[in-house]
Amino acid sequence: MSSRPAVYDLHSHSTFSDGVLTPTQLVRRAADKGVTHLALTDHDTLAGLDEARGAAADCGIELITGVEISVTWQRKPLHIVGLDFDPENSALRGLIDELQLIRRTRAEKIASKLAKKGVKDPLENASTLAKDGLISRAHFARCLISQGFAKNFEEAFRYYLGPGKPAFVSTAWVALEPSLQQLHAAGGVAVIAHPRRYRLSHSWMRRLLGDFKQLGGAAVEVVTGNGSSADIESMTQLATRFELLASAGSDFHDPNNSWVELGRLATVPGSLTPIWSRFSGAL
Ligand code: AMP
Ligand code: MN
Ligand code: MN
Ligand code: MN
Repeated sequence: MSSRPAVYDLHSHSTFSDGVLTPTQLVRRAADKGVTHLALTDHDTLAGLDEARGAAADCGIELITGVEISVTWQRKPLHIVGLDFDPENSALRGLIDELQLIRRTRAEKIASKLAKKGVKDPLENASTLAKDGLISRAHFARCLISQGFAKNFEEAFRYYLGPGKPAFVSTAWVALEPSLQQLHAAGGVAVIAHPRRYRLSHSWMRRLLGDFKQLGGAAVEVVTGNGSSADIESMTQLATRFELLASAGSDFHDPNNSWVELGRLATVPGSLTPIWSRFSGAL
């Protein structure tokens, strides 16, 4: 038996979506950083989970099945982290297939807008960068950087890919309610990812948490990779008020981003119940 303290990081990405490490590299890095329980939560795909599970067994850490689902709620795009589900479940697989189709159509539209701005072969380049896996705006950002249209990610989103910018494509993802239904059908729990990033007003945030709770949502990411202590404090109050559990995840994508590291997370406030108490393997 190991005497290491449990360190949970329940939000991370690999090369199967827009992360830069393979699942094996990601899991090894997590183990090196002291993570004992890692969830791989690639955007809208389950394709990296088998490799991650094998690597986790080799490193002696616990792999929690995960995915980050793109949803639309009240016309707003949101991210829901699904955890601890059966990855073979057909309802969930149907949801993932649907999301991948939406992504493919969106990528074609983004690419044609970028081509109009003079970017060379954007779809081919993004597909190559995505290794024929799932294409996200992060791949288009890398393509813009490599062709000299932007110096970094920040500029790529600010000048081309962000809302209202020339290559932005407003997308109807799957609605929140059916997304949660499919996730629950697979035995999973739903977590609102990085709740501060949507820049919702207080009243919209309360509406979201109320709807999410009513649909059976379990938790919010109270602790995120680059959240401040004020963010933790305000999300703690909201989680308490809406009787939601707390999750903690770095949203790690890239070792070159020194702001975010696997397992480098504040402690979940003791007044909240952590989501991992609901995992199927929990004591
Ligand atoms: P998508 O899921 O295709 O909309 O791509 C969104 C991904 O792009 C996010 O998960 C982040 O990894 C990345 N991203 C979004 N906005 C920014 C930004 N302003 N700066 C850097 N990366 C971003
Ligand atoms: Mn991402
Ligand atoms: Mn996200
Ligand atoms: Mn993420």
